[in-house]
Amino acid sequence: MSKFKLIIPVIVVSINLITCNRIAGWVAPFVISDEQEVELGNSFKAEIDKDSISYPHFHGDARVSKFVDSLGQKIADRQSDRESLEFTFTVLEDTSINAFAIPGGHVYVNTGLLKNADNLAEVAGVIAHEVGHITQYHGRDLFLEQAAFGYASSILFGDSASIASALAALVGNMTFLKYSRDNEFEADSCAVAYSTLAGVNPIGMRNFLQKLKDRYGNEPKIFEPFSTHPPLSDRIDRVEKVIEKVPGASMESDTLLYTDEFEAIRSLL
Ligand SMILES: [Zn+2]
Repeated sequence: MSKFKLIIPVIVVSINLITCNRIAGWVAPFVISDEQEVELGNSFKAEIDKDSISYPHFHGDARVSKFVDSLGQKIADRQSDRESLEFTFTVLEDTSINAFAIPGGHVYVNTGLLKNADNLAEVAGVIAHEVGHITQYHGRDLFLEQAAFGYASSILFGDSASIASALAALVGNMTFLKYSRDNEFEADSCAVAYSTLAGVNPIGMRNFLQKLKDRYGNEPKIFEPFSTHPPLSDRIDRVEKVIEKVPGASMESDTLLYTDEFEAIRSLL
């Protein structure tokens, strides 16, 4: 009995320590509330859902969407940085190796990424990286950075007609989501933390970055989550250092990768 009393507090402390490594960065000239961010994100999502040309909807086996959603929800549920935010996880029928997040809790994963992942841990790492961009307000801050001019200000301050056209233009060109080098490092550290909390080996993010580097070089011209900067080698080094600090994580471990389970899902694509 006394043994339990000793052990339980230790576990609680360890779990609380598993979170993103924060890097102080750019400070927005003004803030919007979480509710406003969610409203903005939902408007973005509605535009993306309408645009099946730029964002081809996935009409394949429903088990694939269910897999991505349940993995994403598990990652979102276990993180404690933005506990009350509702997340959505959507598969897009797109061969490019890509995933992205928009403000307000919406994550998109391409079939190309799923096809090029070797196991569940790699997919979890990428999804957790995108969740990290949301929990750390990276997309919202980029949006606010540009809000002083152009489309973003129309969305925040315009009438409904100008909001609609500005949203459509912004969704047609998501390059406004060009995260900074520090944002990427921060999201990578979230990937390690959140994968671990979800019970998945955090080496997945590192392994996927390494695979991309082997295949496309150190600075591939790929949009999120493998942007041209920082170079992949820098990100791999940092991820390895973060993994070393996570209790129970190991670079050598081949457990908790869930290869067979993911193989079954990938075969449906
Ligand atoms: Zn990223």
